[in-house]
Amino acid sequence: MSEKKDIRALTKTELREFFVSEGDKAFRGNQVYEWLWSKSAHSFEDMTNISLETRKMLEDNFVINHIKVDHMQRSSDGTVKNAVKLHDGLIVESVLIPTESRTTACVSSQVGCSLDCNFCATARLKKMRNLNPDEIFDQVAAINQESLLYYNHKLSNIVFMGMGEPLMNYNNVLKAIEKITSPEGLGISPRRITVSTSGLPKMIKKLADDEVKFNLAVSLHSAIDEVRSEIMPFSKAFPLKDLKESLEYWYAKTESRVTYEYVVWKGINDSKEAINALVKFCKYIPCKVNLIEYNPIDDGDFQQANQQAISDYISILEMNDIIVNVRRSRGKDIDAACGQLANKKS
Ligand code: SAH
Repeated sequence: MSEKKDIRALTKTELREFFVSEGDKAFRGNQVYEWLWSKSAHSFEDMTNISLETRKMLEDNFVINHIKVDHMQRSSDGTVKNAVKLHDGLIVESVLIPTESRTTACVSSQVGCSLDCNFCATARLKKMRNLNPDEIFDQVAAINQESLLYYNHKLSNIVFMGMGEPLMNYNNVLKAIEKITSPEGLGISPRRITVSTSGLPKMIKKLADDEVKFNLAVSLHSAIDEVRSEIMPFSKAFPLKDLKESLEYWYAKTESRVTYEYVVWKGINDSKEAINALVKFCKYIPCKVNLIEYNPIDDGDFQQANQQAISDYISILEMNDIIVNVRRSRGKDIDAACGQLANKKS
């Protein structure tokens, strides 16, 4: 028996054509498409305005590979972490982060990660595979439902800061964002979506060429090549001058300010030299810096710098008119904070 096709791999046009080829009306394709995307149907049975006969025909031809929230944990600060099971049994994690002003979904783009940032727990997992567009979309839809359930309002923001490197799963991430932003999907504005990359110059340029409308964040952590390639070994292949050039290209095309994510660690990047290098890097294009609190992973190689070093970063950046925010960690007690996603149940 041939394997049934995942119906959500079909575009709306393809779905309309399928119904015509079955002797039905193209319009039926629109109805089914709406069930699949805006109504997040998990089975053909759910599609109550479609005739039983048509539902049976769909059942015979297709599957809906919907993700399943396998395990959910709620932190004392309100953060919710979902361990999500994919149709082939693999697991990824996504997180709902509520604050007074917004509710943010942090979603994964790959199962595991192919990069090797020494301070990140996800990097210890082998990369198993890229997520499909519908698997990324489903994480967002699941968190949107949880947000409605627990906080009585819809999701307001999405960050691609979960497991994986989004720009190494470029096409699927862009397709997922297309669905998330389309009125037939979740209708969330691209201005409320941020894709975070470890900094792959070629792919940053591609984003600019594709004129994407979402925000870009770059995990910088050091503006000194030797330090950066020590803590993020893959970046040896992408020196800061290439990153700088790609960011200038991005800004020239999009006029969209970039966010640099930055953790300050004791003995690694807590010197004046490190701060001055960051200030210099920040002058290349309009940007802002998010200083992220370090979330310790099991060993002790990395330690959060002391408060004085962090205050020095803030005052020197501000003195140079660079916007800087300090990002407090959320969901630490359930291993849901940045860099802690590693399929651990506690
Ligand atoms: N691969 C993408 C997105 C995933 S990581 C990227 O690198 O941007 C999301 C953010 O968490 C990145 O800025 C990453 O550098 C940061 N991060 C990773 N491990 C961390 C840790 N242990 N503590 C704090 N931030 C961490």
